[in-house]
Amino acid sequence: MSFSDLGLNPKLLQAVEDVGYTTPTPIQEQAIPYVLMGRDVMGCAQTGTGKTASFTLPMIEMLSSGRARARMPRSLILTPTRELAHQISENFENYGKYSKLSKALLIGGSSFAEQTKLLERGVDVLIATPGRLLDLFERGKIMLVDTKLLVIDEADRMLDMGFIPDVEKIVSLLPPLRQTLFFSATMAPEIRKLSDKFLSNPKEISVTKQASTAETVEQTIIKIDGGPKEKREALRQIMASEGEIQSAILFCNRKKDVDILNKSLNVHGFSAAALHGDMVQSSRMETLSDFKEGKVKLLVCSDVAARGLDIPAVSHVFNFDVPVNPEDYVHRIGRTGRAGREGKAFTIATIEDYKGLRNVLTTINSGIPVVSLEGFDSWTDEEAASLKGRRRRRPTKVTAKSSDAKETKPSRRRKKSDDVAEDVSSEATATTAVDSGADEKRSAKKPVRATRRKTRPTAVIGEREPSSEPSNPTSSFGDHTPAFILREAKVA
Ligand code: AMP
Repeated sequence: MSFSDLGLNPKLLQAVEDVGYTTPTPIQEQAIPYVLMGRDVMGCAQTGTGKTASFTLPMIEMLSSGRARARMPRSLILTPTRELAHQISENFENYGKYSKLSKALLIGGSSFAEQTKLLERGVDVLIATPGRLLDLFERGKIMLVDTKLLVIDEADRMLDMGFIPDVEKIVSLLPPLRQTLFFSATMAPEIRKLSDKFLSNPKEISVTKQASTAETVEQTIIKIDGGPKEKREALRQIMASEGEIQSAILFCNRKKDVDILNKSLNVHGFSAAALHGDMVQSSRMETLSDFKEGKVKLLVCSDVAARGLDIPAVSHVFNFDVPVNPEDYVHRIGRTGRAGREGKAFTIATIEDYKGLRNVLTTINSGIPVVSLEGFDSWTDEEAASLKGRRRRRPTKVTAKSSDAKETKPSRRRKKSDDVAEDVSSEATATTAVDSGADEKRSAKKPVRATRRKTRPTAVIGEREPSSEPSNPTSSFGDHTPAFILREAKVA
């Protein structure tokens, strides 16, 4: 099938050709004709599947006739994060370059005055995060009675971020006779309930199995025993074994740790920058564009800040922390292996992550090779299970104050505005100052391995760990090992 079979107008086809797409992706092939028919659509699709174009293309087609009135947008796209809003906006710019559509971006961190001015002029497409949209509504700057096309993007993330009450409020302000397109990477029961509420006789389209991880991503879990300092050392060793990394995204669970890791990487001579919700919007955008242009090679992120980032050439994702929310694993690794490219995803897991790791593996419903790292202590499932809630900490100065124990705060809280909506899972915990650059400088002077204790021998490449972990093979690899993939295994 080609784009011309989808019923798009010649201007749009030209714009698609200019971008370089030759064939529609499965979600585009399935969704576009139904959207053009005016049907509600419920799309279960991960980022990286081309889902954004599956709604932006037909929207441009449908909105090309008609005119917007002041303060009454004709269509609304709700998205959980500012970065995603920007990306959707870029999509409209690319595909809509031969169509004269007006659009406005209502996101936190930008001036109200400018957004209000745009609304006054009338917009065809309004791309908004829920908090900012409601703020403007409450100030009387916007009316939604003429908004006959609604897109809810990344619904599962909206749920995680506690945005659903806002979304429900917004939907209640829209005319009941409208077209609604609802996208989510996962279709958990709560999401299904929401779609039942918002959609009318939708065409259901699913392009991946539930919470499946991109097939183009080679995933590995690295088990190490230790705290943040050992994790950073391990990370550097893993990165060294991967050669010259040109573009990688590194995830931490908390904003504070994003800053610490970023600082540490810079101290160690890496080209890294941080991206999280405490940064002002202008520096977030600047960092993102430096990363996209290759001026910065490693982007250290929180989940929310990185949500939906579309940077096709990201070769690696490193999970410095196992995500608290297992669905985030899917989103994180979806930053690589995009648009058919190959990618690699490494997850560093300490014994405290045992439960989190099990949740991830249950969610993605497939095994990931689990390995240990040469020179680092590892741990077994049996050891983790026998902890029974007791925390086992190495007696190192750096980890003593570590706030790992606080990491598992659920991320369901809702804050007033999108300006502060990010990283809800972590904002309440930023009280301890752990090791920072100074400590890193000290450790940088020493050879990494000289500082380590060994409690038991590490298994060699290709060998199973001599423990009773039959379903969880663990191997080690050295700096010169190009790959350390063993057989696939599930953590019980
Ligand atoms: P998305 O899932 O919308 O985030 O899109 C993922 C990536 O796929 C983006 O880099 C898009 O530019 C790209 N993309 C979207 N549609 C196509 C297509 N039909 N052919 C090739 N790449 C595409």
